[in-house]
Amino acid sequence: MLEAAVDRASTRTVSTHRLPPPPSALRGRIVVAAVAVGAFAAAGAGQALNALGTDAPSSADEITPLASPSDGAAAFGVGGNGPASPQVLPVAKLVDPAAEAQKLVKSQQITQDREAEAAEAARPKFARPANGNFTSGFGGRWGEMHYGIDIAGPIGTPLYAAADGVVVEAGPASGFGLWVKIEHADGTVTVYGHMDTFSVREGQRVQAGEQIARMGNRGFSTGSHLHFEVWNAEGKKINPLTWLNSKGISV
Ligand SMILES: [Zn+2]
Repeated sequence: MLEAAVDRASTRTVSTHRLPPPPSALRGRIVVAAVAVGAFAAAGAGQALNALGTDAPSSADEITPLASPSDGAAAFGVGGNGPASPQVLPVAKLVDPAAEAQKLVKSQQITQDREAEAAEAARPKFARPANGNFTSGFGGRWGEMHYGIDIAGPIGTPLYAAADGVVVEAGPASGFGLWVKIEHADGTVTVYGHMDTFSVREGQRVQAGEQIARMGNRGFSTGSHLHFEVWNAEGKKINPLTWLNSKGISV
């Protein structure tokens, strides 16, 4: 393209001044100059690449053969006059990011497990089944045996599992209106009656203090209250107040 422009210029020169065209030697020099410009551009690009190389150490720097042990020490920034190789090896040791991430996940899991164990150990294993007024105890009442304790409160008052266990019944029951029965690890069963609604199902595992129902006035009841019974492992109905007190729960 440069050469073509020169040709047009020389043609015009010829027509105006009638001078002979420039000797081919001159055109040759122009072509050489154009090639030289191209080469210069290429060289410039090369220098740009080299400049990038100096900013971030290239792999070429790392594999440069070491002239002497002291050179090696300098290249890796170790210093000293000792043999290069034994000092260089630890520096060149690679860290596997996947393995490091795995270690981190494992240590986080151990921490979580430890915290879960601590929380499990710290949480109460027994709970008051309802907040409210203690209105009736276990024993003879109006010439009949009362096999539980009564805790009165507004309809809808939350009822809680008295201990960890598994729900063995949840539904209608004669006299109770609705009841929930929870069996505990030692075979003891706690019974909750007259509730307005319940929120557990048979087979469900519950923890002490977990809400299982809401207080109500269903069945044989003369006002909103929880009727709470405790059956021991032999199925005998025992005094719930004594049982709760033995577990550190006062009513
Ligand atoms: Zn009762």
